[in-house]
Amino acid sequence: MAQENVLTPSSESAETQLQHAAYDSKVEGNIIFTQVDTAINWMRKNSLWPMPMGLACCAIELMGSASSRFDISRFGAEVMRFSPRQADVMIVAGTVTYKMALAVKRIWDQMPEPKWCIAMGACASSGGMYRSYAVLQGIDNLIPVDVYVSGCPPRPEALLEGLIKLQKKIEEEESALAHFQAKEKAV
Ligand code: SF4
Repeated sequence: MAQENVLTPSSESAETQLQHAAYDSKVEGNIIFTQVDTAINWMRKNSLWPMPMGLACCAIELMGSASSRFDISRFGAEVMRFSPRQADVMIVAGTVTYKMALAVKRIWDQMPEPKWCIAMGACASSGGMYRSYAVLQGIDNLIPVDVYVSGCPPRPEALLEGLIKLQKKIEEEESALAHFQAKEKAV
């Protein structure tokens, strides 16, 4: 049957016949050429599994983002995991007290690489209104933050915008090979 697709009238030149033989629309139409790194980044950015670190009022908005009205699953990030080993993006939503801070760090350390962090709201980003001896003045004092979402609290749309920004960042990340070579050098 495949032979039928490449048969051409005998009146066509040899060059045209060769072109017809090389191009089979049934095959070509279903193939996309890309780089492995681009494909990996594309898969990663569209399947982020959040570790919901809800610590205060911002967590209610985080929960709202998963509701049908805002529907975080449109961005492939609806699979909230409550095990750090199954998550790759920590969303810190709320006031980080010193009492809680080391627990947050411990959970972050248990998440496998590659991993990312979103600081949701004023408290997680900077301590917010709590200039207090009891509150960490920003989760970036303990773990690297990729995206900060402003607001007190930010609305779910703002979190979704932060998520889109993180996706854009992941899209442009260095190649997987360069990542592992850098790790090897560091050892
Ligand atoms: S930023 Fe505002 S809403 Fe969010 S945890 Fe702090 S006080 Fe609550």
